[in-house]
Amino acid sequence: MGIKQTSRYCKQCGKRTLHVKHTFDFAWGCLLTILTGGLFLFIWLLADVVGLIRPYRCQICGKAKF
Ligand SMILES: [Zn+2]
Repeated sequence: MGIKQTSRYCKQCGKRTLHVKHTFDFAWGCLLTILTGGLFLFIWLLADVVGLIRPYRCQICGKAKF
């Protein structure tokens, strides 16, 4: 799993803070797809869709931000 970081405004903190979202690592996805003979590609696509829905989380207060 990879981590995506961005600086966003947090209402709870009242300032710009670091927001982190967990994403799927591309290298791992390719490797697992090859190892499973393409089967993993479906799981990967599914995980990617879930990842898009998953919100960024404030690293100071833990509040989720979409
Ligand atoms: Zn915050």
